[in-house]
Amino acid sequence: MSAASGPVLVIAAHPDDPDFLAGGTIARLAKQGREVGYLILTNGNKGSGDRSVTSEQLAAIRAQEQRRAAHVLGVRSVGVPPLRGWRVGRHARSQARCHS
Ligand SMILES: [Zn+2]
Repeated sequence: MSAASGPVLVIAAHPDDPDFLAGGTIARLAKQGREVGYLILTNGNKGSGDRSVTSEQLAAIRAQEQRRAAHVLGVRSVGVPPLRGWRVGRHARSQARCHS
């Protein structure tokens, strides 16, 4: 049996999920030369206790954090569909169908 060698797509609900949940595996795959990309299903504009930060600012901060973390791990691309929010529920799934 040969080892896998194709590209890897990591699909996650929230920004930073791939790095926290599978960062070691992702870094190892990238180091092995695998092309790794992320698809993040929500923009992370919710979930902060800091009321001085708007939802738009929070989404921008999380997008930047996600890109930087992915870069450190060797991930080549990060895609974030135009879904708002924190929960991947019925609303997000219907938006995903509309924007796909
Ligand atoms: Zn999460």
